[in-house]
Amino acid sequence: VITLLRKTNDLKSFLKDIPEGQRGIVPTMGNLHEGHLDLVRASIKDNPYTIVTIFVNPKQFGPNEDFDRYPRTLEDDINKLKGLSLGENKIIVYAPESNDEIYPTGFDTLIKVEKLTSILCGAKRPGHFDGVTTVVYQLFKHTGATNAYFGQKDYQQVKVVERMTKDLHLDVNIKMIPIRRDDDQMAMSSRNQYLTQETRKEGLELTHTVLNFAELLKTTSWLNAKDKINKRLEEVIKDERWDYLEFLDADNLQEVTPETKKVAILGALRLQKARLIDNRLVDITYA
Ligand code: AMP
Repeated sequence: VITLLRKTNDLKSFLKDIPEGQRGIVPTMGNLHEGHLDLVRASIKDNPYTIVTIFVNPKQFGPNEDFDRYPRTLEDDINKLKGLSLGENKIIVYAPESNDEIYPTGFDTLIKVEKLTSILCGAKRPGHFDGVTTVVYQLFKHTGATNAYFGQKDYQQVKVVERMTKDLHLDVNIKMIPIRRDDDQMAMSSRNQYLTQETRKEGLELTHTVLNFAELLKTTSWLNAKDKINKRLEEVIKDERWDYLEFLDADNLQEVTPETKKVAILGALRLQKARLIDNRLVDITYA
């Protein structure tokens, strides 16, 4: 059974008699693809009630970003959710009908994770993660969910939301779901539909760079891989299309040290009409 709710008050009344421990939340901006559906499937497995939120959150877009043309496809999204096998479980789609449902008139509050948002996408998209944490906090509050599902595709986002959850003592378990990829290994994204055949080919440079270094680090120690990594980094720094390519400790997104067990290889490539991100996590040996 799928229930569509468009007002925060309706969501609250609907959830009134459902124990909080039975609720999972999957926050999205809609235009659902198989990557999103993996999150929903994981939540269905764990929780009798899954609340899929669909909200194109204005606060997480920069002034020159794609807020206006971001694909809004609520009807298709609901049909995709109807295709999932639910058994006894239930899906509630919470798609606020206007921004006021989330941001009351005069809204003047910001939830900001500091250091973790100063790097990678946070450095290239000022304010983006503040918009994310501000909306996610509210979605957690409105749904009272105790399990929340996020995609590894946005790895920094997972880390930022984990930090907020700890810092604000929220009783929400953050679960990270692996990246769903297309046949050519590009990470699925609603923004991929901005790509032409040609720019998609160009975008695969990101996919392949991240994949190749993941393969390298699986067979070569960190110190032995350093030369190759540095050489590629020099190329990337000169190439304006690359927002970043970084190799960081996957636990804390800080520099790799001899204590690092897992490395996150993270990249962002800016193409004509789309900015793509990708990452891989690899267990390393340091020496
Ligand atoms: P979005 O609608 O882009 O805000 O994404 C909603 C959630 O789906 C986020 O937690 C994303 O990380 C996750 N997600 C998006 N694309 C993928 C993917 N290809 N694989 C797994 N999760 C994804």
